[in-house]
Amino acid sequence: MQFLADDRLEGRDTGSRGLDLAADYMAEQFQRGGLEPAGTDGYRQRMEFEVSRLDESRSSLVLVHNGTVQPLKLGEDAVLVVSSRATDRLEADAVFVGYGLVVPERNYDDLAGLDLTGKVVVYFTGGPPDMPSAIKAHYQSADERRRALRKAGVVGSIAIPNPKSIERPWSRVAASRFEPKMELVDPGYDAPPPLPLAVMFNTDRAGRLFTHSGHSVEALFTAIQEGKPLPRFPLGVRVRATLGMQRSRVTSQNVAGMLPGTDPTLRGEYVAVTAHLDHVGVGEPVNGDRIYSGALDNAAGAASLIEVARAVRESRTKPRRSVLFLAVTGEEKGLLGSQYYATHPTKGPIVADLNMDMYNPLFALRYLEIQGLEESSLGEDVRAVAHRAGVEVQPDQEPEHNRFIRSDQYSFIKTGVPAVTFKFSYLPGTPEEGVFNQWLAERYHAPLDDLEQPVDRAAAARFNALLADLTLRVANADSRPEWRPDSFFRRFVR
Ligand SMILES: [Zn+2]
Repeated sequence: MQFLADDRLEGRDTGSRGLDLAADYMAEQFQRGGLEPAGTDGYRQRMEFEVSRLDESRSSLVLVHNGTVQPLKLGEDAVLVVSSRATDRLEADAVFVGYGLVVPERNYDDLAGLDLTGKVVVYFTGGPPDMPSAIKAHYQSADERRRALRKAGVVGSIAIPNPKSIERPWSRVAASRFEPKMELVDPGYDAPPPLPLAVMFNTDRAGRLFTHSGHSVEALFTAIQEGKPLPRFPLGVRVRATLGMQRSRVTSQNVAGMLPGTDPTLRGEYVAVTAHLDHVGVGEPVNGDRIYSGALDNAAGAASLIEVARAVRESRTKPRRSVLFLAVTGEEKGLLGSQYYATHPTKGPIVADLNMDMYNPLFALRYLEIQGLEESSLGEDVRAVAHRAGVEVQPDQEPEHNRFIRSDQYSFIKTGVPAVTFKFSYLPGTPEEGVFNQWLAERYHAPLDDLEQPVDRAAAARFNALLADLTLRVANADSRPEWRPDSFFRRFVR
């Protein structure tokens, strides 16, 4: 972690020299740790990305009502989200569509009965409180949203962060708007393309969108807080956007090493242990610091990958299945490196993914929160190893944050692979809760997630040991992990 989060690696942005150095380091550590190369070029699996950058000096966003123009301040009211498909000029009527969600199996459709062809939709992120969080999370993924909106003929979207689940202050959303946006040149599946216009709107300024609609934004906030259904209505304004963009391409790589299994009948199956190596690079300075070191997000996870590999290799029990250790690129750009691996696997079949992303060893390891705990038989494996380690397991404490689909495990889940991911947890109302929330508010995706921050190293080491134990248990079980019969994610099994 000391090496990976050093300023010299400049925040490990996808496609940067800093991330290449990090990849060299991982490959070297994998080799020293006795892992076999499992990439397409030694330990590396390279891929190409299409890059879009916002040039705000050539951009604007206004609302037009009866010919009167109401300018919006980019960075304060809203930010433009560029992509390979973003158009440089667009004007269209705006319609409020509640949560903008379409969930066929719940007969839930925020777009039904509205003529949205050629329109820009405005929606709150999140969804109705009575909808199971896994379903809600899945249909809020970029792919599913794009698919539904494109089908309805929508040309642009304005997302307003849900006031109930905001996790980054607006200033940091605004600061991140100049980060390059990336897409895989070869995603390996039929990915729905981004919309011609995508905007993120400041929740505190959202009232500006509703001035001419006959509805107050306060009433909508109240409905959200009380879990009442949201109305849908035309906003009585046209959205006019001009986008300045620069486009380019970069190459980056996953780093893969493996330990061959010992059982002739099982060694063709792989247990994947994954962590993203990239972070967001150099950006807007905060207190004079421009380097987003990503120490806990996710240099720590990548470092743990090395430690877990060592522990598994040195353990007296040898894994019956093979184990794949995979450090992926492009996570911060939308889980792209793991997506690429899942659709272009170098080893397989992969039967489980144990993913580490921002597991956050901020205090002693007493409680471990598991995303995916109730979804597959991996939940029982985690419970068993945690019990042995004297750690209490908790299900997702904040399902409204969609964490189960927000890191690399989701790329594997979408190809049918049972997965879990981990976070140091706490009991509500304890000091640890304060530490965790303060970390999110001050350090998450900020330059302060660096090597200076307090980290409980002994607790991190306990976590590594637990994860090595889990890896061995899954690699040695008679049968491979399975989704629970009632799990939403079972649908991806092919
Ligand atoms: Zn992360």
